[in-house]
Amino acid sequence: MEHNTRKVSKGLLQNDELYRYILETSVYPREPELLKELRDATVSHPRAEMATAPDAGQLMTMLLRLVDAKKMIEVGVCTGYSLLLTALAIPEDGKKTLLLIVAIDVNREPYDQIGFPIIKKAGVEHKIDLIESEALPVLDKLLEQHENEGSFDFAFVDADKVNYWNYHERLMKVGGIAVYDNTLWGGSVVMPIVSTPEHMKPGRQYTIELNKLLAADTRVQISHASLGDGITICRRLY
Ligand code: SAH
Ligand code: CA
Repeated sequence: MEHNTRKVSKGLLQNDELYRYILETSVYPREPELLKELRDATVSHPRAEMATAPDAGQLMTMLLRLVDAKKMIEVGVCTGYSLLLTALAIPEDGKKTLLLIVAIDVNREPYDQIGFPIIKKAGVEHKIDLIESEALPVLDKLLEQHENEGSFDFAFVDADKVNYWNYHERLMKVGGIAVYDNTLWGGSVVMPIVSTPEHMKPGRQYTIELNKLLAADTRVQISHASLGDGITICRRLY
């Protein structure tokens, strides 16, 4: 039985019981043990609320397998729930020479302290190249090397909402499927501004703008899924 009720109440289905039902029936029983351990270890972290929701994570795993992702970018690591999930989903590179996951975060401390020991226990740390930096310059530098253009299979963005569109513009060149997290921002996208909690207002505004831009972006096919805190999946059309 799950005891992590903080996650449960975050559900966007405005019905905790139904969300709990989905998690307990279909998600938690399938969640790899070490991922569960990392989720539990993250609960005490001040930014625990930012972690990818397990139901959204389950869809991510599905997508990673469907596109047979081998080369990935992750923007926003924190303690590494989505990073471990990704590392577990992608195949072993026989030669272990290929860089598989380029993961970027301005602050690697939560990863080093909480995530890394568990990721090491899972035996997948060799798949990860963690870069401590603002994400935009790293993406720009990556794109300066032309062989990187179109060479990635998958990107997951879960960082500063103000830059999502900037990330999107870079990721369109990098290639592959791009997945954006928190695209319903706690349901605040439909809240009247006066009843939106102060700390959610900036994120609400950026998210509303991003959602409009993605919906109008003819380069991609999109799916805006109400899992976790909302995730938007973008597949390049050409
Ligand atoms: N995907 C993670 C949660 C990420 S939380 C999980 O599943 O647990 C958001 C992270 O984005 C934080 O760790 C924060 O340090 C990072 N971040 C914020 N702004 C950033 C920026 N400009 N560049 C890179 N990382 C950033
Ligand atoms: Ca998130």
